[in-house]
Amino acid sequence: MADSGDFDVIIIGAGAAGLMCAATAGQRRRRVLVLDHAAELGEKIRISGGGRCNFTNLETRPERFLSNNPHFCKSALSRYTPQDFISLLARHDIPWHEKTLGQLFCDRSARDIVHMLLKETAAAGVVIRLETRIATVRNLEDGFAVETGNGVYTSEKLVIATGGPSIPKVGASGFGYDIARQFGLKVVPPRPALVPLTFDESMMALIKPLAGVAVDPVVISCNGATFREALLFTHRGLSGPAILQISSFWSEGSALTATLYRC
Ligand SMILES: Cc1cc2nc3c(=O)[nH]c(=O)nc-3n(C[C@H](O)[C@H](O)[C@H](O)COP(=O)(O)OP(=O)(O)OC[C@H]3O[C@@H](n4cnc5c(N)ncnc54)[C@H](O)[C@@H]3O)c2cc1C
Repeated sequence: MADSGDFDVIIIGAGAAGLMCAATAGQRRRRVLVLDHAAELGEKIRISGGGRCNFTNLETRPERFLSNNPHFCKSALSRYTPQDFISLLARHDIPWHEKTLGQLFCDRSARDIVHMLLKETAAAGVVIRLETRIATVRNLEDGFAVETGNGVYTSEKLVIATGGPSIPKVGASGFGYDIARQFGLKVVPPRPALVPLTFDESMMALIKPLAGVAVDPVVISCNGATFREALLFTHRGLSGPAILQISSFWSEGSALTATLYRC
């Protein structure tokens, strides 16, 4: 059945960012609509942190973020701190624990975070429409029109919270980049970060016998960055916290140095 409506804010993307934004705008008494093409919301949250969601870090500081605009993190993090998120979990009776190095995980499941965001958006009167294909986004004189497979919605403000392109099977797409280009915004070329490293066949042949072996700690360095964390040899290359961290600094052709300590 065709649907339509006028809202103060339309948010495209019902992930972590879109749902937090929706709840906050709703609490400020804005009429909010969230649109998503996936059948389930918050799917990336559900798989995050190995299913337990590493929801914040006690050591969160602006200088720990990689950005072309370091000042953005300063203002964002001063307005919403890790303690603010911990307090939100407390209000929803969600148990958590510190794993290591200030990393906080859910005791039970990442689904707790998804349910919490769902409750927050419902309490704030947010309307959510899933399985909604976005056809076009147009500028109006006083706002935006979003044409979807289910109908046309209009709003004064439009938030694009469609995330990055990793893991398309949970709904990820390059939609945000397309919209940015449509509206003439410069797009910084995206590159993978916080990812495992894969080896080519010749390298893999050398380390294959080590697949499954974990070393904790290793000291790993690349392009001026150094981390001391655990490393895991996998059947495709290297993984573990040390590798995820250093992957954000590695670029093709760069040397990566790892010192392995005996456990
Ligand atoms: C395996 C894995 C583990 C992770 N673990 C952690 C962790 O423990 N802690 C942590 O902080 N971060 C973790 N991350 C990163 C974290 O999950 C993401 O940074 C976060 O989910 C991004 O939120 P987002 O709202 O920006 O985007 P997303 O969660 O990707 O949400 C985007 C939403 O937009 C929708 N969408 C996309 N394209 C369209 C379109 N064309 N039309 C309509 N809707 C669209 C999607 O369906 C989705 O619901 C992990 C990521 C992965 C892949």
